[in-house]
Amino acid sequence: CGIVGYIGKRDVAPLLLEGLQRLEYRGYDSAGIAIQGKPAKGAQSAGLKIAKAKGRVRDLEAKLPKRFAGTTGIAHTRWATHGAPNDINAHPHPDADGKVAVVHNGIIDNAADLRAKLAADGVELVSDTDSEALAHLIGRSQAPTLEEKVRHALAMVEGTYGIAVLHADFPDRIVVARNGSPVVLGIGEKEMFVASDVAALVSHTRQVVTLDDGEMATLKADDYRTYTTEGSRTSTSPTTVEWEA
Ligand code: GLU
Repeated sequence: CGIVGYIGKRDVAPLLLEGLQRLEYRGYDSAGIAIQGKPAKGAQSAGLKIAKAKGRVRDLEAKLPKRFAGTTGIAHTRWATHGAPNDINAHPHPDADGKVAVVHNGIIDNAADLRAKLAADGVELVSDTDSEALAHLIGRSQAPTLEEKVRHALAMVEGTYGIAVLHADFPDRIVVARNGSPVVLGIGEKEMFVASDVAALVSHTRQVVTLDDGEMATLKADDYRTYTTEGSRTSTSPTTVEWEA
């Protein structure tokens, strides 16, 4: 239903909770956050942390662990289509190794098929959602870059999606994609936002890039680029949104 993401220098959990609150008007049944944990001095990555809860954004806030510090993260409000509203079916969904976190808006039409194939390969699916399959497909891809892993996964998917993806081995970026479910980038000063709805961005930046269907983007703190799901670069320049505060 709703997606918010941030990469930059600020403490990410409060920012994402605020973004989710701005999307509450759309309705939802559960909410969740994944962040890149703060690495110890000298370490490249501290791994992903995920918190999720059935209910309101404030229920999620109450459930956040004390140490939930980081400056990169993604968050979701879910409107269940596949699987009951509960903590496990809430997004973000991890892969089996806990290296990937995915938030997904939309419906994967061939989810039953993908889930059956993953199960036949020995993958334990923990939720009842269509979305979880995406996390495993990305996690199991042998491609060297996160962008290609996501591309490989999406090539197997039929249906609609707006997604945002974190990977513990690629802590400097968020990869997003759109097909039939809106994804908007918010361009800041040494910080980038992503959301399914400009309402979650406009308190931070008015410079936005709206992805087209079949388009993906890589967000880094000081840079972004857009390309098609086939991998060829697309040229986009931000437009300024008018918004009555
Ligand atoms: N189909 C997904 C699910 O049921 C995503 C629903 C949504 O857009 O929130 O978990």
